[in-house]
Amino acid sequence: MKKTLLSCKDVKQYYPVRKGVFGAKNYVKAVDGVDLEVYEGETLGIVGESGCGKSTLGKTICKLIEPTGGQIVLDGEDITSYGKKQMRQVRKKMQMVFQDPYASLNPRMSIRDIVAEPIYIQKLLKDKKEIDDYVIELLRKVGLDDYHAVRYPHEFSGGQRQRIGIARALAVKPKLVIADEPVSALDVSIQSQVLNLLKELQQEFGLTYIFIAHDLSVVEHISDRIGVMYLGNFVEVADKISLYSKPMHPYTQALLSAVPIPDPRQRKKRPVLEGNIPSALNPPSGCKFHTRCPKCMEICRQKAPQKKKISDSHYVYCHLYDENQE
Ligand code: SF4
Repeated sequence: MKKTLLSCKDVKQYYPVRKGVFGAKNYVKAVDGVDLEVYEGETLGIVGESGCGKSTLGKTICKLIEPTGGQIVLDGEDITSYGKKQMRQVRKKMQMVFQDPYASLNPRMSIRDIVAEPIYIQKLLKDKKEIDDYVIELLRKVGLDDYHAVRYPHEFSGGQRQRIGIARALAVKPKLVIADEPVSALDVSIQSQVLNLLKELQQEFGLTYIFIAHDLSVVEHISDRIGVMYLGNFVEVADKISLYSKPMHPYTQALLSAVPIPDPRQRKKRPVLEGNIPSALNPPSGCKFHTRCPKCMEICRQKAPQKKKISDSHYVYCHLYDENQE
């Protein structure tokens, strides 16, 4: 029986915007009522084009930004209305690794101080020697050397900086790590090293990951399940094998067609995605994907599709799978 570590119900992140000084208030619906379950020990990949709301969802779950609505339950604790003080305790269980290892490390702090900072904040250890030893242990775990502790961020490569960011996230022994495009800024050869490291650390520490990426080829390597997002909502959530072998949603099919396949015999004819993602300020009516969907029907313009169960581990939101369509 899988144990749910994180549960999100109808989570919303709306940003108010005004047209002109006295104009009517409108909202950018960056995350528009997301339901999500993450099971202990798994990696849930979240994929979509930039602007689909995946990073905003990650930050909202971590409560780096307050949700506009909905409910977030972590490890049986409803954290939705927690303030800063209560969230300090929760951050022991949930940490984030950011996309840009250049921007996420304070350039004036030594690596020792960067990794030790959350240990001080959480009051996990008090003795300086104990903290120093623990920092060294963490640096070794992420493949860095002891002498790196006295160095500064500018002395490291992108991949090494991401390793430092991972060591810092692991310092408080979290259960859940939300990795927001952790390898997007890295060279392809370095990407696989960091992905392998994340997998090894998951095994060793029993971590649960939410892994956010814009590329389905990146999440395939690391994920157990994958959720595909479009304009603030999931359009398909499935276990890895089902999603790659039998993608149901036209958007997932289009994203997969962009993934390079080395063997030409394995290539299938799949729709190519055209145009850009519409504005979340004024999203299309009905199915939000209808303006780009090659299979769009009349009902798609009028009515948002409901969640359809394909199997116990595969859900899709698309009118193609309405009962009267089958
Ligand atoms: Fe395309 Fe309609 Fe399905 Fe939306 S609901 S993905 S427009 S077929």
